[in-house]
Amino acid sequence: MSQRQINILFLASEADPFVKIGGLGDVAGSLPPAIQNLSNDTIKYDIRLALPFYGVIKKKLPNLPKMGEFPLHTGGIIIQTSIFEYTHRGIPVYFIDGAPIKEEDPVYGSNFVADSEKFVFFSLACLELPRFLKWRIDILHANDWHTAVAIHQLSTQAVFRQSSPMPKKILTLHNLPFMGAGSEDALTRFGIEPADDPHLPTWARTIPLPMGLASADRIVPVSRSYAQEILTPEFGCGLESFFKSHSEKIWGIINGIDNTGWDPASDKFITSNFNVENLSGKISCKNTLLTELGLNLQPRTPLIVLISRMDQQKGVDLAINSLRMIENLRWQAIILGSGDSKLESAAMDLENSLPEKVRAKILFDSALSHRMYAGADILLMPSRYEPCGLSQLIAMRYGTLPVARATGGLKDTIRDVDKHGHGTGFLFSEASANETVKALKRSMEAYMQQERWNGLIRNAMDQDFSWNNSAKEYCALYQQLIEK
Ligand code: ADP
Repeated sequence: MSQRQINILFLASEADPFVKIGGLGDVAGSLPPAIQNLSNDTIKYDIRLALPFYGVIKKKLPNLPKMGEFPLHTGGIIIQTSIFEYTHRGIPVYFIDGAPIKEEDPVYGSNFVADSEKFVFFSLACLELPRFLKWRIDILHANDWHTAVAIHQLSTQAVFRQSSPMPKKILTLHNLPFMGAGSEDALTRFGIEPADDPHLPTWARTIPLPMGLASADRIVPVSRSYAQEILTPEFGCGLESFFKSHSEKIWGIINGIDNTGWDPASDKFITSNFNVENLSGKISCKNTLLTELGLNLQPRTPLIVLISRMDQQKGVDLAINSLRMIENLRWQAIILGSGDSKLESAAMDLENSLPEKVRAKILFDSALSHRMYAGADILLMPSRYEPCGLSQLIAMRYGTLPVARATGGLKDTIRDVDKHGHGTGFLFSEASANETVKALKRSMEAYMQQERWNGLIRNAMDQDFSWNNSAKEYCALYQQLIEK
């Protein structure tokens, strides 16, 4: 029997372990290997990842040899482009370098001109990769606004127009409000025409994410609920009519997590490993974590954690206000995150006013996040919107029960605890501190009943959040598009 091969070029602005800012980094680091692993006797998935060669990656991989270079001709300008290759978990990873990717710049900066030049250049350079590699692609799979211009621009490239059939284009939507607005000058400079989809509002035709959405063969929001939510004015960010008119190409697929990297039974970052059959290691992880952060070990006191970008989206303000409202109850909390300076200050203020209860760590620290997922009892995640959310999946895998707002992927992955003790977390509907408090109180009541709580921990840990199912859904999508 002959083996069919599907070639997929996967574009992302971050991928663990090279660079990770949020959930996109987890996804781009773990989905491609999961897809490749689904290769069998009849079908081979040759999936390759492209990333910008940021300064932070150069520091991690200082001696990577250059594979080659080519001049990128676009809009009357020429940008010398270099390609570096690395193999990670069996996946070829191509790092793309050129003048717009400045060594000293952060991955995502506050300088929008710099960011738009960087990501538009990266998107265009990725379109040259197949020719450079002499590798025909069947699928171009982009993620979020940073790589959406590649989707928009693919059909304008002669090399793809002449290939029959043309590669199919998938755009996974991790965060709709971040559209790349402000990229207009960069698009003009690079000679990129606006989108011409009549369903797209005029304002959106020169913004990378909507441009990519208009050209994509499939739009993949990262949960079924979010796929529905973007059709409404509350979540659609002004594109709800566009989405409705293209509903046939929207296909929600929930994200998974990398089950080997996030595994309490083998996690190298935690002091005591544990599993669903033996939770004793979880108790010692909690004790070690409290000691590490200078909090007293107190019996029957739930440890609440928040591990998040400090952003309005994440409801960090709701989390802080709700903890203040229950400051007289018995709990301890550790907050880990960075981002919006007002939210960072609010977290530090909470620690200052409740020093015996709260620690606020204002930084990005992967190792600490592992210790927190393992040592905590409750993960607080009152997101205003949440396309998928990975923190709650990781938390449940480590037996830490989420208290979360019932929106998007949170709604799809957490089963609200009922009076019979069925469920995996505590959901609430309204984005308010009052409702957050009510859900927190429910979780704390359950926590006080040890047997019941252990049952809930087992419910949470027994679930399968690996990429298995979702990677299969992506493969089905690839096949369906190719056969169309
Ligand atoms: P988003 O992608 O919107 O930021 P997700 O819940 O999908 O949110 O993914 C967040 C990822 O980033 C998780 O792996 C989480 O553990 C990690 N993370 C967020 N903030 C921090 C931090 N300050 N330090 C370490 N890891 C963090």
